[in-house]
Formats: sequence, structure tokens, C-alpha cells
Amino acid sequence: MSLIPVSVVRYETPFESLRQAVLLADGLAHLPKHARVLIKPNIVFWTRATDFPKYGVITTSRVVEDVVALLKAHGVSEIVIAEGTIVRDPKDTETPKAAFEGLGYGILAKRYGVKAVSFWDRPFRKVDFGDGMTLNVATDILDADFVVNLPVMKTHNQTMVSLGIKNLKGALDIASRKKCHRMDADNNLHHMVSRLADPMPPMLTVIDGIYTNERGPSFDGKMRRSDLLVASADVLAADMVGARLLGYAPADVPHIAAAADRRGMPLDGSGIQVLGESVDALARRHEYDFVYTEDQKEVLPLPFAQMGMKGLSYRKYDLSMCTYCSGVNGVVLSAIRYAWKGQPFDDVEILTGKSMKPTPGMKKTVLLGKCIYKANKDHPDIQERIAVKGCPPQPADIVAALHRAGIPVDPKLFENIDLLPGFFLSRYEGKPEFDPKMFQVAP
Ligand code: SF4
Repeated sequence: MSLIPVSVVRYETPFESLRQAVLLADGLAHLPKHARVLIKPNIVFWTRATDFPKYGVITTSRVVEDVVALLKAHGVSEIVIAEGTIVRDPKDTETPKAAFEGLGYGILAKRYGVKAVSFWDRPFRKVDFGDGMTLNVATDILDADFVVNLPVMKTHNQTMVSLGIKNLKGALDIASRKKCHRMDADNNLHHMVSRLADPMPPMLTVIDGIYTNERGPSFDGKMRRSDLLVASADVLAADMVGARLLGYAPADVPHIAAAADRRGMPLDGSGIQVLGESVDALARRHEYDFVYTEDQKEVLPLPFAQMGMKGLSYRKYDLSMCTYCSGVNGVVLSAIRYAWKGQPFDDVEILTGKSMKPTPGMKKTVLLGKCIYKANKDHPDIQERIAVKGCPPQPADIVAALHRAGIPVDPKLFENIDLLPGFFLSRYEGKPEFDPKMFQVAP
């Protein structure tokens, strides 16, 4: 059996490092003549309210431009950059366009004739992924002749790593993204994600590890400058190498293990030929998980327990929590942390996601989001039900619910929720390795 080539290259020189990574892996071997090529970067989130740290969150514009230049050098004339960026208001069609402009794709359009499109403005097609699983996938990616998949090398608090296969979740419509988070042991998030590459056209994956993200996938993670590129014409093989560089054995990452199992691909890497740098020499453990502690009744994030917080149970998010609730969960946790003044809360429990059940004996139960409200609206173990029924859960409703539960969170934290990403920027100021120009295209 021939080995699948995967290259590992240090990012040292614009264009040249990318070219070397792709050539080493023979990554354009399946590029058809006169191909219509779709580039799928990872622009998981954007806001127009504030600047925010993009390191380890969004594919660098440096790598996007290098890929466009390489495709042009190979005679490709039709190139589209496409993404389904999450914004706080699902009806907001302007922010994805602002993301493209902010990342300099308008300059790429003038310089190379590429187009940038938001999947939200384009049609989706129902695709049968097998085992009764159907998802709506952007037709632009399905109908491309060739895809260049450009994930960021990052960890993910639910899927452990977020690399090439996971990046394809950004080509699903919102309903299908939510469907991936259902609580079905046989078809949970890991199984859903493991199949996302199955219906895709021939693909080159380049994992952008110029910046890597510990406790990702978002701007509140801890970013590192790692200067790595991983390339392969086989997305699963690229992900197996990317996982190892983040410190995880492919066998330990459920969606990678499931995808390999279906293909009969050995998880020990014996089916892969790594070209370029040594994975073992470059691998650096990036933690993905948040530690929670629990006694019999109260479950808390470890920092809350270390502060001595009492009278609150806030269980760890599970696989069923999806995009919009994930977006507010961190703010709720921060707000509670600031609201704690040393006096026990009144036996409050906060439930999230789609499937948590109340703990008997708690006096007040906050149901955060439409799904958990529907799952528990008649549950007999709830003494006082306090519901935030929206999807997305609205900030004002969250404040009202927490106040009713006796947790005096500061409303300003929620009123300024759009500005929160900007607060994380200060962590990187004055550190020359964190270079915002990596996310711009030079005019
Ligand atoms: S309420 Fe929360 S968990 Fe339910 S679909 Fe909306 S974002 Fe997902």
C-alpha cells in the first residue's frame, strides 16, 4: 500500500514556505485542468463592534494570499473564497462582508481576480451522509472542481482539535450545524464531524499553524506563535499529523478515530509518510479542556471552587451545546465570577445545551437557551424554573434570569457583549510575534 504524503514545513518565507509545503505533499496532484477552485478558510467569527485577536482563531490572510498566488501560478483562473462566518445576529448579512474586507480579500479580488462569497448568500443542498444523517451543505463547495481547505491549527473544547475535517462544518447551514450537536450516542458531534469530508470534491488541505490556539477555538484561548504548515491532498492524513503537533494521538481524538476507522486507515500513522520537519520534534501539547470540580450536589469550574464559591451548580457544557449558547456561556461564567462577593448563592443550578437534567433539591434552576428550556419545562425536580427561552439567548433575558436567581451580575457586561472580544487584544500588545499584518493583505 502506498503511503499518503503529508508535509510539515516551518513558515519562514511568504509564498515560498507555502509552496514548499504543497509541493512536498504533491498537494495539487488532483487539481483538474480549468478547475473552478473554492478556498475554504476558517473565519469562524467576526464582529464589527471592535477589533479582536485573530491569532489562532482565523486563517491568516498571509496563507490565503500565498495559496491564491500558487493557484494562479498553476494556471487556475476561477477562484472563489467562501465561508459561513458566525455573527451574533443570524440576520446580519453585512458583518461577513466586513470580515472579507477586513482580511484584505478585496485587495485579492483586484490583484488576482478572486471572488469572496458568504455561504449565507448562497444555496445549500441536502446531502445524505449515511446512517440516516442528512445535512445541508453549501452547493458552492459541493460543486467546485477542487477545494483548498485552510483550517487553523487549534484545539477545541468539544472536539479536542479543530483542523481540516472540522473546518468543513463551516460549509453547513445553521440548522445543520445545530443538528451536529444532538445528543444521540450513535450520532453525536464526533460522529457527525467525522463524516463531513465524505461528499467533498478533490481537496488540498493546508493547516495554518502560524498561530496555534490552546483552549480554543475562539479568541479567549491562549495563542502561541508556532510558524507551522501541514499540507496534504488527504484531509484525514493532514488532521492526524496536525493532532500530533498539538500533542494528541489521533486515536484519542474521537472524530479522527471514527473517520480513520471507516476508511480502514491505521491510527498509528503507519499509512502516512511525513515529509519535511519531524513531528516529534515540533509537537507541543496544547490543552483543550477546562477543569471542573464536583461534590455531591454542586458542580463548578475549578477556579470558582478555588474562590470558595458556594450555593451554585454550573455543570460543564456537553457536546449538545451549540454555537450561540457557546458564545454566551463564557460571558455568563465571567459575570458570575465578578458577582461573587463571598456570600453563598441560594442553591442555584444553571443548565445548558440540550439534555442536562436538574439536580433534585436545588431551589432555583436557570434554563439557559431554548433547547434546555424545552427539555425541562415540565420537569418535576425543578422548584423554581427561571427560563431564558431564546435561540440565540438574548443578553437582557440572561441578566434578568440571573438577577431573579439572586446572582447580581453586572448588566454592563452583557450590554457590552459585542465589545468583549476586543478586551482580549491587550494580551498580545507589545509582543512582536503577534503581528496583525498577518491578517491583512498588503496593498
Ligand atoms: S438554544 Fe443553544 S443549544 Fe439550542 S440550538 Fe440554540 S444555540 Fe444550540
